[in-house]
Amino acid sequence: MIDLRRLLPTEMDALIGEMGLPRYRADQVLRAAWKDLVEDIRGVTTLPGALRSRFGDDGYGFDTVREVTRQVSADGTTTKALLQMPGGTLIETVLMQYESADEGRMPRSTVCVSTQAGCAMGCVFCATGQMGFERNLRAEEIVAQVVHVQRLLRERGQHVTNVVFMGMGEPLANYTETVRALRLLTDARAFGLAQRSITVSTVGLVSAIGRLAREGLQVGLAISLHTADDELRQQLVPTASPHSAGDLIEAARDYFDVTGRRVTFEYALLAGVNDGEVQARKLASRLSGKPVHVNLIPVNPTAGGFRRPAREDVIAFERVLQDAGITTTVRVEKGAEMAAACGQLRTDTVTISPGSAAPVRGPRQSALGPGPSRGQ
Ligand code: SAH
Ligand code: SF4
Repeated sequence: MIDLRRLLPTEMDALIGEMGLPRYRADQVLRAAWKDLVEDIRGVTTLPGALRSRFGDDGYGFDTVREVTRQVSADGTTTKALLQMPGGTLIETVLMQYESADEGRMPRSTVCVSTQAGCAMGCVFCATGQMGFERNLRAEEIVAQVVHVQRLLRERGQHVTNVVFMGMGEPLANYTETVRALRLLTDARAFGLAQRSITVSTVGLVSAIGRLAREGLQVGLAISLHTADDELRQQLVPTASPHSAGDLIEAARDYFDVTGRRVTFEYALLAGVNDGEVQARKLASRLSGKPVHVNLIPVNPTAGGFRRPAREDVIAFERVLQDAGITTTVRVEKGAEMAAACGQLRTDTVTISPGSAAPVRGPRQSALGPGPSRGQ
């Protein structure tokens, strides 16, 4: 079956035209897909029954993902869902909510989507990287995660305000489907989010960054740099070769020149590995004067055995960058206590017993234990 949520609005117009139907039918299907969030073509009551059947007979419909488990953090701000795609593939999606400063205003609701099941990049501190690569997700499977969360929020009178491509997988290694998902999420006749509300995070695939800059999109870009030292980066991101930190900084410059959007460099701080003053100075001298931000992410515990630096060390690192005039933030972690934070998403240790919705956790995942309390 072809999921109607895979089709861009222009493709929907073309399909409706080919079916010999008036154009307003395309708008009705799009509304059902993206506003009403229907789960079944037979539920699109704006269409005549015969037409609904015809879509089905022609092989079109709506796929739905199944929520296998849902975990909510103690403070209720982070929700992690284990989702099963129609073919059985399992992936994780996280919703992070941030109270708005104005009381009574809607919270910021950010969905962190996965673009692949697993990841081939093998970053040594990342749980997804350690589980290996299973497969690319299709665009409709990427947007299905947002649709799923939107349904959940709708029950509370809220809606998705931001999407970050920071879940499982490397978005730019699944380039075509990622870009299709970006267009579906931002097209006014589809999901309709502002382009600026979306951020794509990449391990740094230089040619794909250049291509993304030229898609005519205005989405934010984050590049996971982790160190300005090429030798160390090679150890942390074993597949990084042949790209050096210099290449990534140049790619960020190009992205800014073409899109007008400043790139964020993400830097997972690993105690005793890349969090020292020498590393901070090296990074500062490479980035000073460049149109970039830095986001420091004290590492979340995974099976790799890396530790997060002491609070003073994080502050000292941040200060070196700020003194060099570089806008720097420390990521406020959400979801570490239930392995929903950056780099903790993995599904290979979860097995589902037939006929049961309850997952059985394998030893590697339970061995992670509860994460440290969030925040710096
Ligand atoms: N593959 C993309 C996007 C997914 S990872 C990328 O690497 O950018 C999203 C972010 O989480 C990246 O910046 C990644 O470096 C970071 N990350 C991975 N493992 C982590 C961990 N254990 N603790 C903190 N951040 C981690
Ligand atoms: Fe893949 Fe990103 Fe994890 Fe590296 S950090 S293994 S690129 S998901």
